[in-house]
Amino acid sequence: MPLVEPQIGYVEWLSYSAWKAGETCHWRFAYARDSRFDSLRRPNQYSLLGTVRHKLEEEAQSGKTLKAGESGELWFSRRWEELISNAEAKLADAWSPARTPRAVHWPNYWEVRIHLEDRLPRLITEPKPADSEDGTHKWVVGLALPDSPMPAVEREIRDSDHGLYGIVDRLEEREGLLVLVDFKSMTSSGPEDLLARHRDQMLFYAGLVHHEYGEWPAVKISIPDGTEITLDYEASEAESIVSRATQFRDDWNTGKVSPPSPSADSCQWCPFQVVCPEYQSEFTQILDTEQQLGRGFAVVDGVVERIVDQGDFLTAVLHQPRNLTCPEGTVELAQLAKELDLKVGQAVSASRVYARSPQAVAAGWDTIVVLA
Ligand code: SF4
Repeated sequence: MPLVEPQIGYVEWLSYSAWKAGETCHWRFAYARDSRFDSLRRPNQYSLLGTVRHKLEEEAQSGKTLKAGESGELWFSRRWEELISNAEAKLADAWSPARTPRAVHWPNYWEVRIHLEDRLPRLITEPKPADSEDGTHKWVVGLALPDSPMPAVEREIRDSDHGLYGIVDRLEEREGLLVLVDFKSMTSSGPEDLLARHRDQMLFYAGLVHHEYGEWPAVKISIPDGTEITLDYEASEAESIVSRATQFRDDWNTGKVSPPSPSADSCQWCPFQVVCPEYQSEFTQILDTEQQLGRGFAVVDGVVERIVDQGDFLTAVLHQPRNLTCPEGTVELAQLAKELDLKVGQAVSASRVYARSPQAVAAGWDTIVVLA
């Protein structure tokens, strides 16, 4: 895939994550919407573990996957294995032919599992709202959507007035109040850090809920041990987030698209480094910044001069025409999967490489390798 600019298309619906990417760099937003670069957007262990947790929370709440006579513990162990195995397959498929790690080696794997295993088997065997004594479904709220039972899990909400949308992890009614719960699998940071990092996202979702139900929800972040951390906010803060996101969308659709803004802050871990001409031409300037630059910025790009079979892996010897992570000239790119269809004379780009020496780097399983 050569260095190529993204196409600037019309944005009908804007999600929180797309908006945030767009605020960082307009090109990053455009690449993410350009289907030619879909293969560069790949799931990682964090997003996949989060999906497993979401699914299990939903099932424990609804009880729908508990088999007759099955204990909560057996249900958990069965569904955990099934969902984790699916997640492993998705990771392997997205990063093929790299050898992706087994889930037990993913960050937070054991912490998330232990906490869920401690809590969800009890939750799934508790009587469900529909089974309450008077036979009524106590969670149904007759607000804007009378046919939408509560708690709602993974509900997609669209605000057609502003062109914004999002998937809300869980929406409940507690003592007559709407409560928006967002699940986070990252547990190492403290409550204050979690609230600070996810504040804008929570306010964006609160805005969606307000649009649909006409009232501002209480907002909580739930970590895997079941602890809920409350986000205190004013309606005006959420309105301001909605207005900023809407302004971004309107500006974009009226042609107010800024040039790319390569910098240490915006480009770190950007999956489009391998195709972004601006990133590669500004690379040496980015290196001049005071920040510590690591794998999130490491990229090599050149034409294969030689391929060395190293047994389990290949090493490609490239001629790199410009200064990137390695200086211009001969660069060794080691630890490439043997299944790559690599040929002499072919152009290769790789980001997220490990620097080994001034002229040599190595690929990890999550190195993005693009062959032209
Ligand atoms: S590499 Fe940097 S400049 Fe290029 S799209 Fe990504 S964030 Fe923008």
